[in-house]
Amino acid sequence: MPKEIEVKSVLNKTKKRDSWFLCDYTINMYSGCSFNCLYCYIRGSKYGTHMERNLGIKVNAIERLEKQLATKAKKQQYGIIVVSSATDPYLQFEKEYELTRQALAVIAKYRFPVHIITKSDLVIRDLDLLKEIDQTAILPADLQEKLGRGTIITFSFSTIDEKIASIFEPGATSPSLRLEALKTVKEKGFLSGISMMPMIPYVSDLGAHLEELFSTFTGLGADYILPATITLFGHQASDSRTLVFRAIEKHYPELLPKYQKLFKDGAELPAYYRNAFHRKMKELAQKYEVRDRII
Ligand code: SF4
Repeated sequence: MPKEIEVKSVLNKTKKRDSWFLCDYTINMYSGCSFNCLYCYIRGSKYGTHMERNLGIKVNAIERLEKQLATKAKKQQYGIIVVSSATDPYLQFEKEYELTRQALAVIAKYRFPVHIITKSDLVIRDLDLLKEIDQTAILPADLQEKLGRGTIITFSFSTIDEKIASIFEPGATSPSLRLEALKTVKEKGFLSGISMMPMIPYVSDLGAHLEELFSTFTGLGADYILPATITLFGHQASDSRTLVFRAIEKHYPELLPKYQKLFKDGAELPAYYRNAFHRKMKELAQKYEVRDRII
């Protein structure tokens, strides 16, 4: 069972809005993430090998958010709130706790814009609140013309292959349900696209699979596709590098020497690999006529 925890603050201001996710603020209603992706960037000793066992539910988060947003709104400090940056807003526990839903109601009340980033189809439950935010949020001055609306919904994928997903994202909602959710939000007129992050070398970044990803996402109406390569950290039992290497050894043993070579100098893939990947992404974005940025 998850721990119930109390926090001093839940709304974090970023130093500068990033061009990928347009993030001015972040909120995380949960501490840790029960989706337990092996490649997750928040991994490390803090949450342990099985992140779902150390999940924290921030039980006073709504009360804190209400106070923090009231202050920001009074000062007219409007900005896009990314939900979430270090967990998923729609973990299985969200069905019971409804912290994300309550947070969206507070965000709607104070008229802040939101960017939902998720690996779950549970976001469909909250489309009523997200529609209200889309229509009534007050945007920062520099985004009023360029964005012109209050809700962005991004679905995150490292693959659409169910077997690969079950190895690398064992706790997340299946890709097919995420695709159904993308279809629904596009049919309902939301701005929505894909975080294709991270692509798993030689497993989900092969030419045929990349074509399938672009063709599937654009076929469902995705407005943008944001691709990125993988970064793997650490040598402890709960670190992403250890866990991904172990999965490669078990499920794709023939790839292990390639992985050892790719990551021999550190956490990032070598420049030649990243450059080739980004060239391929540009090519596919042009072919499928999809943006590689939200705006
Ligand atoms: S859904 Fe995101 S935050 Fe959760 S484990 Fe996966 S990568 Fe990490």
